[in-house]
Amino acid sequence: MNQLTDKVAIVTGGANGIGYATAAVFLREGARVMLVDNDGERLKQAATDLSSDAVRYCVADVSRSSEVKRYVEDTLAAFGGIDVFFNNAGIEGTVSPLVDYPEDTFDRIVAVNIKGVWLGCQHVLPRMNTGGSVIITSSVAGLRGFAGLGAYVASKHAEVGIMRVAALEHADRSIRVNSVHPGPVDTQMMRHIERQLSADRPEAAKEGFEAQIPLSRYAAADEIADLVLFLASDASKYITGDTHVIDGGMIAG
Ligand code: NAD
Repeated sequence: MNQLTDKVAIVTGGANGIGYATAAVFLREGARVMLVDNDGERLKQAATDLSSDAVRYCVADVSRSSEVKRYVEDTLAAFGGIDVFFNNAGIEGTVSPLVDYPEDTFDRIVAVNIKGVWLGCQHVLPRMNTGGSVIITSSVAGLRGFAGLGAYVASKHAEVGIMRVAALEHADRSIRVNSVHPGPVDTQMMRHIERQLSADRPEAAKEGFEAQIPLSRYAAADEIADLVLFLASDASKYITGDTHVIDGGMIAG
């Protein structure tokens, strides 16, 4: 039995990585899916690759309220409701000590990771069906510090605050809000971080991360999607306001 039959899901950051993998799992489980991303070309290709009548897409920058309102309206026009909101789009910025961190990069991370997640909650939650589920992609960097990733760490901690408040404010309509906290995941985001840490030998940076993970490898994006599916589905219907770590044991120690 499919776990999301007749459900409508919005997936931000759906053109790549964790968002794309999760959209594929949602479709497999019977949902209708609105993919949202600001990379229009890649988004169109992603929607084609998913090859399903149940997928639509909307090119939008999650950090702009007018564009957030547009993806909400497009979803309601296409599917007539919203049951699942995977509030996932995010960027990682640059690797730099806090005292040298470039202000414009800090501002962009705040705009996408904090304001984008905030605006998504602000505009999607009031339009969600009773019993809906919101999942925010934070990170292990939302639960502990990583030197050199100050703006990203700060933004991912802020997302936990948004998750907790949204969970409290929407429990009366049985809408649940949770965050997921992956360690390194095999997506273009980690490629970018590896290149910044070691331009000549990015594989050395990867080995450095893997040495910090008890399971000795990055997660695959579809392993994160399986946790998101659990939180989206009725299998987790008594779970709200909580943080869910999926990191191969990285922060257990
Ligand atoms: P990714 O780069 O593969 O995908 C992110 C997607 O978000 C891209 O398609 C990008 O175009 C889109 N995006 C970026 N800015 C946007 C904006 N302003 N508006 C709309 N879309 C935008 O990265 P990913 O690894 O799949 O990351 C997804 C989420 O997971 C992010 O929030 C990230 O912080 C988080 N995360 C990733 C890792 C990892 O190791 N990859 C670990 C922990 C958490």
